[in-house]
Amino acid sequence: MKSLQNKIFLFFVLLLVVVQAIAFFTLYSGNKSQEAAEINNRLTTAKTIFTELFNKRLEYLAAFAETAAQDYGLKEVFNDDTRSLLVALNNHRKRIDADLVMAISASGIITGQLQKQFNSMVNGQGLGKVRQGIERGQNFRFPQWLASGQAAHLYLVDEALYQVSLSPITVGSKTIGWLAFGFQIDQRLASEFQSITGLNTDFMLKYEGMWRLIASSKANLAQTTKLKIAEKELAQKIIQSKIPDQYIATHSLITEFDQQELGVVMYGLRANFVALLQQQWWRLLILAALTLFISLASAYFIAASITRPIKRLLAQAKVVASGNYQQRITVTEKDELGQLAQGFNEMQIAVLSREKAIMHHANHDPLTDLPNRNALNKTLENLITQAQPFRVLHLNISRLKDVNDTLGHNVGDEVIKELARRLNLLNKQEYLQLLVHLGADEFVLLVTSTDLDKIIKQIQDNLEANFNYQGISLQLQVRIGVALYPENSKNAKSLIQMADTALHHTRRTGKLVQLYHTDYDVNTVERLNLINDLKQAIPSGELELYFQPKLCLRTMVVTHVEALVRWQHPTLGMIPPDDFIYIAEQTGQIKALTRWVFTTALQQFGIWKKLGLNLNIAINISAENLKETDFYQFICQTILLTEVPAEKITLEVTESAVVEDPQAAIQLLSQFKAHGMKISIDDYGTGYSSLAQLKQLPVHELKIDKSFIQRLEHDEDDQIIVRSTIELAHNMGLHVVAEGIEDEFSLNWLIKNDCELAQGYFISRPKPAKELTRWLLDNPIFSLAKKNEKESV
Ligand code: C2E
Ligand code: CA
Ligand code: CA
Repeated sequence: MKSLQNKIFLFFVLLLVVVQAIAFFTLYSGNKSQEAAEINNRLTTAKTIFTELFNKRLEYLAAFAETAAQDYGLKEVFNDDTRSLLVALNNHRKRIDADLVMAISASGIITGQLQKQFNSMVNGQGLGKVRQGIERGQNFRFPQWLASGQAAHLYLVDEALYQVSLSPITVGSKTIGWLAFGFQIDQRLASEFQSITGLNTDFMLKYEGMWRLIASSKANLAQTTKLKIAEKELAQKIIQSKIPDQYIATHSLITEFDQQELGVVMYGLRANFVALLQQQWWRLLILAALTLFISLASAYFIAASITRPIKRLLAQAKVVASGNYQQRITVTEKDELGQLAQGFNEMQIAVLSREKAIMHHANHDPLTDLPNRNALNKTLENLITQAQPFRVLHLNISRLKDVNDTLGHNVGDEVIKELARRLNLLNKQEYLQLLVHLGADEFVLLVTSTDLDKIIKQIQDNLEANFNYQGISLQLQVRIGVALYPENSKNAKSLIQMADTALHHTRRTGKLVQLYHTDYDVNTVERLNLINDLKQAIPSGELELYFQPKLCLRTMVVTHVEALVRWQHPTLGMIPPDDFIYIAEQTGQIKALTRWVFTTALQQFGIWKKLGLNLNIAINISAENLKETDFYQFICQTILLTEVPAEKITLEVTESAVVEDPQAAIQLLSQFKAHGMKISIDDYGTGYSSLAQLKQLPVHELKIDKSFIQRLEHDEDDQIIVRSTIELAHNMGLHVVAEGIEDEFSLNWLIKNDCELAQGYFISRPKPAKELTRWLLDNPIFSLAKKNEKESV
């Protein structure tokens, strides 16, 4: 009942029923009044017909009586003997088949009377015998009729009622008597009326205050008195206008003579009369029922057709609710429902696109629009199920933090976007499964190729060109940690973790690319212990200083040494600085460490000086140290104490250390410079600083990072970079140190390209002070021949 379809249907049903009821009622009342009018019309007509027929008979009688009264033969025998008169009377009677003929003498005595005996009450056959009337010889009962000259009358004789017409018979001016002819008012007449009007006809006579049934069109009444009485009672009621409902009836009264009244009653069964009307009525009812049925059926279909698209929409809504947005509703209707469906489809598309946007959002980084960690996890799982070898490359933009801090986050974002764009160029490569931006400066590449060198070369090639943004020229560089599937792990989470660990390891090694190794994980665990142990390292004398020579390429004499710290851990053995400097920086212990290194290195200067080795000492300074308020004071004090000339001291500061807080750095470094110390920019080329920026720094020397030097022999690009760096540095009045010389080629190449100083394993590994002293004394001049000779031994 609650459904829309049912409601619409019910509405139609009610509407139709009401409309039909009104129509039916109108029709019904119309029919009823039509019926009444027709009955009335019928009865009036019947009455008129009766009156006319009745009068016609009378006129006919009158005309005939008059003619017969002229008859000479009759006149002759009028006063004759009875027999002759009767014959003559009968002859006349026969001519019009009258039922009564009478001759009345001038003295008012009935001289002849013939009655055709025809009484349906007695003889239903209607054949009558002519016999003499009982009134012969008697006085005519109505002498006033004779005197008045009135012709037409009703006349009752011997229970039979007649219509009579009187006509005087005259001889000359003398009336010799009267002649009367009559037609009986009997069943024949009644039947005749009935056949004309279609109504039962009764004749009733009232005399002495009582109604009597004279004749009836109903022939069977003669059979029982019971029927006759019933008929009489009905006729009497009709005369009294008390017509029973089942009848239609009319009556007419003819008052003719004293105390006697003739009543004509005409009636019929209402049912018979209205049968035809009722038949029409039934036809109408059937028609109405049929229309109602058809209307209801169409109402049902209309209701269904209205609700069909709604039902389809409903079904569609359920489909959409279940998460299926692909399916559309095809609605051909152009009406509101069609529009609704159209709107529904549009809504669906909007929801779909919104959901797509949300999905996109959920799986992409908002800044670069590259897939994010979610997408990475999914793709990783997929790749793992395919069981094909692949590599996870975790990329980190070098020194993004510096860019953010110095140039603002807008520039930082541009750098990230540019890097993303360049990495995206790899998408053309078949091996690239997915490029992910984890956020900030971190990216991940999933590659299926096992030729890592080629991939890394391609990455570096893509990043090679400087990125120019708002007049700033930045160099994009990434460090890469790599985890291998299935070699390292078969678990997605672990693989990401391992690539990350490998990436972290690049910080220590200074390498740009690092494959994961299980040892790194151990180190990470160890690192926690190291933090604790490091506190004890200085007081316990566990730190040792190594020195690595820097060769002057003009003189081939070692003029400088770089102090590089080592940690002799009581249980773990020698720990390389990459593994603990980072921790020292993070835990604030770098302050003490740097001070120990500085003091120790200057003391070593004194020892060498005494030995006649006049060396410049280079000491690594952390970014953290530059933040110390009393750092400058400490350096000056130590110089004073150890009596080392300030110009013999070089402070190696990384680009990033300066970039973090350039104003403060510039101020502090300027103080050092003013004090006579040298400033060297360490690991030059791995950061973003351009030479133009460095110009503002109080710098003496650039130390080109080993990553550019190590491959000099094989990488022409590196040659170009190093050559142009040397040229530019010289143009700016800076000296150049190259670190990471691992072969003769590099050394010769640097000599050829006017590099001032060279440092690297090819010349000498970092050595403990004593060992280096011996080496220095053995090699006052660095000779290649000697070196080769030595190596070959
Ligand atoms: P660095 O300042 O760039 O030091 C140069 C590093 O390059 C040294 O590693 C040295 O052993 C290495 N090296 C020198 N020649 C070659 C070569 O031909 N090939 C290769 N592959 N490497 C070469 P080391 O001693 O392990 O020091 C690593 C880093 O630890 C240093 O990088 C420096 O950043 C830091 N560090 C070392 N000592 C100190 C220190 O006393 N204070 C601070 N703040 N940092 C230090
Ligand atoms: Ca250094
Ligand atoms: Ca370096």
